Formats: sequence, C-alpha cells, structure tokens
Amino acid sequence: MKSGLVKKVIFIIGVSGCGKSSVGKLLADEIAIPFIDADDHHPLSNIEKMSNGIPLNDSDRMPWLDDLNEIALKHLDTGCVIACSALKEKYRARLNKSSQPNFAWVYLKGDYELIFDRMSKRKGHFMDAEMLKSQFETLEEPENAIVIDIADSLELITKRIKSQLKISHKMKSEIGVIGMGVMGKSLSRNLAGRGHRLAIYNRHVDGKEENIAVDFKDAFSELDQALPFDDLKAFVQSIERPRKIILMVNAGPAVDAVLNDLSEVLLAGDIVIDGGNSHFEETKRRIDEMKKKGLFFIGTGVSGGEEGALKGPSIMPSGDKEAYSKVQKYLESIAAKDSDQRPCCTYVGSEGSGHFVKMIHNGIEYAEMQLLAECYSILKTQNHSNDEIADVFESWMSDLGSYLLGISVDILRKKEGDEYVLDKILDKAGNKGTGKWATGSIADSGAPSTMIPAALFARYLSFFKEKREAASKVFPTKHDHSEQISISILKEAYQFSRIVNHHQGFSIIERVSNQNGWNVDLSEIARIWTEGCIIKSDFMKELVEYLKTDSSLLVNEQLIPIIKKTHSAAQTIAMECIRREIHVPCLLEAVNFYHGIKTAHSSANLIQAQRDYFGAHTYKKKNDPSGNSYHTIW
Ligand code: NAP
Repeated sequence: MKSGLVKKVIFIIGVSGCGKSSVGKLLADEIAIPFIDADDHHPLSNIEKMSNGIPLNDSDRMPWLDDLNEIALKHLDTGCVIACSALKEKYRARLNKSSQPNFAWVYLKGDYELIFDRMSKRKGHFMDAEMLKSQFETLEEPENAIVIDIADSLELITKRIKSQLKISHKMKSEIGVIGMGVMGKSLSRNLAGRGHRLAIYNRHVDGKEENIAVDFKDAFSELDQALPFDDLKAFVQSIERPRKIILMVNAGPAVDAVLNDLSEVLLAGDIVIDGGNSHFEETKRRIDEMKKKGLFFIGTGVSGGEEGALKGPSIMPSGDKEAYSKVQKYLESIAAKDSDQRPCCTYVGSEGSGHFVKMIHNGIEYAEMQLLAECYSILKTQNHSNDEIADVFESWMSDLGSYLLGISVDILRKKEGDEYVLDKILDKAGNKGTGKWATGSIADSGAPSTMIPAALFARYLSFFKEKREAASKVFPTKHDHSEQISISILKEAYQFSRIVNHHQGFSIIERVSNQNGWNVDLSEIARIWTEGCIIKSDFMKELVEYLKTDSSLLVNEQLIPIIKKTHSAAQTIAMECIRREIHVPCLLEAVNFYHGIKTAHSSANLIQAQRDYFGAHTYKKKNDPSGNSYHTIW
C-alpha cells in the first residue's frame, strides 16, 4: 500500500448496539477516509416500514444492499468505512457482488448481555430485548472477517482493526483545495509539488461534473499522494485540525454557497482561505459571518494567472493575523520568490485588505496593458509591421523591462501559418470586473487615480465595435503621416505614463488603508509584486526602495528628475495623438493628471461659486484660517 493512501472499503458489521457507527466514524477519521452509515441510505419504502414498526424482509433489503454496493464501488479510489449490520452471509455477498479484493470485513463481536447492558445505559435509548434477541438469531457469523471483541475501548478497537488490516497510521492531509478550475488545479499542483499532504475537492454535479478531483489527480504525478474527493464532508474530514482550506471558486455567490456548505462540517478554529478575486467588502462581511460561527476566513489575493499559480504566484492575504500565522508556511512555500529569495507573500492587514490590494493590482494592470496598447496603436498608424513593433518593444526591455512588455513582444511576433495571430483577434476587450470594482473604490475613496478608470472605459469603448465602425464612416480619421513620431520620444512618454500609473495605484492603496486603519506597508506590497504577478517589472523592484521613504512617488528624489525629463516627451506624444486623432486615453490621462496635481491654483473656486449660486452649498475663503463657510446672495 502506498503510504498515505488507504484504498480499502471497510465494512463494519454486527448486531444493533455493537458500536458499528462509533467505531466506523473513529476509524474513518483516523485514517482520513469517508464514513458511510448504511442506515442513512435506506429507500423511502424501507424507512416508512421501519417507522411503522414493520420489520424489513429480504426483498426490502436487497435493493438497499445493491445501492450500498454501488456506493462502495464509487469509493474504491479513496477508500471508505461503511457501517452496516449485514447479519447474513447472503447480505454480505450482495454487498460485494463483484468480489472486490479491496473490500474488507470487520465483525464487531460481543455477547447478548454486554450489548443489552450497554444499550440500556445509553441515555434516551430504549433497547427492545426481543429485538436484540432476534438479531442474534439472524446473525450468521462471518468466516472471512476480522473479528474484534467489543469489550475494549473504542480507541483500542480501532487500533486493533488498523493493525489487523495492516493499515499503517494514516496521516491526514495538511491542507485542502476546493475548486478544480484553472487556478485551483495549478495551486494544488504547486502545493503537492512542495511536499504538502493535500486533499482536493470539486463539486459533484450528476452528468456534468463527475470525478473531477479523481481524474485530475490521476493526470499529474506530483498529485500521487493527494486525496481526491467529490464529497465535501469526507474532504473536510480528511484534513487535520485546525483545517486549512483554500477556496478557488468563482467570486460572488459561489463563494457564499461553498461557505454555507462548509460551515455545516467545519469545526471551531478551522480556517478558510478565499484565493479568488472576491470584492474586499464581501470579504469583510464573510470574515464577520464566519467569526460568529467560530471559524476564520482569510481573504487572499492571488496574482500570476494559471502559470503563476503553478510555479509561484504573488499572494496577498488578509484577515485575522493569528489565523494567518497558521497558514503562512503553506502560502509562503508556494509563492514566487523575490530576488533575495524571500516569498512574494505578505500579510497585508485586517479585513479585506488583501483583496483590496489585489483589486488595485488588477487596476494598475489594466492601465499598464492599455498603455502598451496605445503605444502599439501609435506605431501601427506609422505603418510599422507587427515584427517592427515587437523589435521596438524588445529594445525597451533593457531599461523598462516588465512581464507585460515581454509578453507583448511574443504576442506581436506570433504567427499561425503566414498570418499574425494578433491580426486575427477581434478588437473588443473583455473584463471580469476587477477594473470596474477598482474604479468604484477610487470614486468612493475620493482618490484622483484617473488612469485605472481611463483604462476601464477604453475597454468599454472597444466593445462598441459596430458603433465605432459606423462612426468611422461618418467621421473619417485624418491620420497625418507627414512626420514620423520618434520612437525614443514614445519610449519616454511610456515611461512617464507608467510612473504616473504606479503613483496613482499606490496612492489609492495608501488612502483606503488610512481610511480603514489597515496600515498597509506599500514597500512590502511592491516587494511581493516584483515576482509572480502580472505587473512585475524592473520598475517595481525600484519602487520597493522608493516606497520605504515616500508614499507619494511624485515627490521621490530619484523619480523627480525622470518625471521632469520624460514629461515633455509625454506632452509631445499627447499633442501628436490629438492632432492625428489617435485614441490614447491613458497617455492623455497621465499627462493631464500631472498637470492637475501640480496646479497650485486651480479653477475649483468657480465650481464652488456655482455650487453656492444654485444650491447654497457655501464655500470657504482663501487665507481664512477660521475655516468658516460663506454664502453669497448671487
Ligand atoms: P474556473 O476555471 O472557472 O474554476 C472555477 C471553479 O469554481 C470550478 O472548479 C467550479 O466548479 C467551481 N465552482 C463554481 N461555482 C461553484 C459552486 N457554486 N459550488 C462549488 N464550486 C463551484 O475559475 P478560475 O480561473 O480557476 O478562477 C477561480 C478564482 O480565481 C476566481 O475568483 C478568479 O477571479 C480568480 N483568479 C483567476 C485567475 C486566472 O488567471 N484564471 C487569476 C487570479 C485569480 P465546476 O467545475 O464544478 O463548475
């Protein structure tokens, strides 16, 4: 037998009151396989008979035994313990119709007096002496079973069963993963590959989702020792306490649905880690709800996509710090490692701060992607081929290197036959909602982080393909190719815009962290974003140091000269794009924000006056330390 796997179906048999269920449950728990009580699987007709005090006959029993046989066969891969009286040889034969060698029989033997005495002492339990007698009369003692004397303690009984069945002490799983989708699979392989004893689970939906975890386990050698389940209770029971369970299911109602089911089987102190892209406010609610049940909930941002999850993602956990300390070693072991070999995983703060930070990560990602798309768009209007644009981007890698720039080079070069794949892709950008959430949070918090919304709305605009095509005919674009846009100027404009994007991204984190008392360490966030995530870049590595002293990147001494130097390039490109009618919302927003943030005397006085004029909203006066509000009869 492979260590850590008990591929046996163990039937615990004997008369009523011999302790089948108690022994079965303890045994199943100790060897971390599911427990099944045969009495829970009677057909309705049997239940009705029994509740009317009518004894079951053999023809009542046979369909029930057939069902149990099927249940047993379904558990051949994981093993299970089934408590079933199975008093007659023909019942046992029916339970093992196909003579499975992996079916084992344990007969709990005790004499009438002992069982009657025990049953009579059980609180609230009435044992009919005649019924027990009839059970003994029906009983045909099995010949091929391990016989265990029930006079001993439960612990000793299970020890004897394990020893006689040659079951070495089965270690429970250390951690479990729920949801064998794209991310759950990769995270599971990552965890198992690092030597963690793992349980994996995917829901069972008849005819649609069957044996997902078992099939997945069979496909990858690193999952050799993993225990696969499609039964939630058995999955939970196979994990050592306090249980640590990672949820990798779709954000939203699916998380609540799984938590609901989990709450039924988890015990106080168990920890659930939501690794999906949940909204941070939902995470806060779930933390509170789970706490009321004595359970811990850790909201965890996981970045890096499928490959990151497999090879090492960037991980952003938050919630109860003590609960985090119990899962820290697992999350750190699977995380990407930074240049000092430290894990790209850090405790972000309380509540849903981890998911908030992950959401802003995605927002920064939106704007970084949009900026590259805008550079691509500018170069395309200059009639550069995809390969030439790839060459340009590749040449930027030496000093502006990033994961997104690197993959864009690959994408631009990729061909199927003679055709570029990129040229065949419909220009409608999708989104899964984190950009929308980030934009909402930016608005809620009052932060002027304008590039994320600009990138989001650029995606939305892209979706109106038919309208764009129609408008392009009515208002033809006047591209002016008389002068080439300088690639070195474009590069500087790109660099400038990225600085503004990162400045805005970290500013919103700082602002919301302050508003919620999360105390998020910005430098540490930059550090865990240096590897394993989509926005990893050489610039991010520099930010780790800069953010130690300056939470605002626009006042950082190393960045000030670069901002000053690249600003005029960004201005030039912005002007050229407006003149040439090239849609570059993020680039323009970077320049515009920069102009706004360094405008000491803005036009907001007129806005205040207008508000006061039509709504008596009042205004404050310049050079008035009293801070009083004034109203004018206009
Ligand atoms: P996925 O491939 O669609 O897998 C979703 C998983 O959730 C499946 O195993 C699915 O089970 C399960 N599920 C859905 N509804 C369920 C329910 N009501 N009860 C039980 N299980 C349910 O999604 P994914 O890409 O792995 O993403 C999982 C989470 O990670 C999402 O929140 C996503 O936003 C986040 N994320 C994804 C990426 C990425 O690059 N893909 C990156 C970072 C974060 P069935 O197969 O039975 O339907």
